[in-house]
Amino acid sequence: MNKYCQAIIDNRHKPFVMYRLRDGILKKMGYESYPEYLKSDFWLDIKTRVLERDDHICQICGSPTTIVHHRRYDLRTLQGIKSHLKKIISLCSTCHYDVEIGKSGNKREFWDAERILDEMLWKRELRESRIRINSKTPLPEVLRFARWGTIKGKHALD
Ligand SMILES: [Zn+2]
Repeated sequence: MNKYCQAIIDNRHKPFVMYRLRDGILKKMGYESYPEYLKSDFWLDIKTRVLERDDHICQICGSPTTIVHHRRYDLRTLQGIKSHLKKIISLCSTCHYDVEIGKSGNKREFWDAERILDEMLWKRELRESRIRINSKTPLPEVLRFARWGTIKGKHALD
């Protein structure tokens, strides 16, 4: 295992390591801080493209919104490279709060927020597609469904 992989494994449980990595990338891009980046016209252009792609609609609940959320903070996403725009998603303020903070009132660690978002998106997809898990459901769908333990819901088990 190389040093880089080891460093990730050693650091993965340290809170907010991803935010520090992000700030390091932004420094290399010439921004002193994340708030400074968010104030730039450069970011405004990226944000506008994401909102237009999503029709200014929260991708979880469908409310109109002007807020977007980063699912990754790698260089290309922060640079707004087209192929990486899928890593930024439109969310309303309520859903964004649930993803980033939630009931605890404390900001979640990056991967916790990502896991919560994935679960919310999957639940929305489930509601829309009305997927039902039964003996005829293909195994990949069952596994996908069981991924975050959402198989508990009675609505999905008939
Ligand atoms: Zn929402």
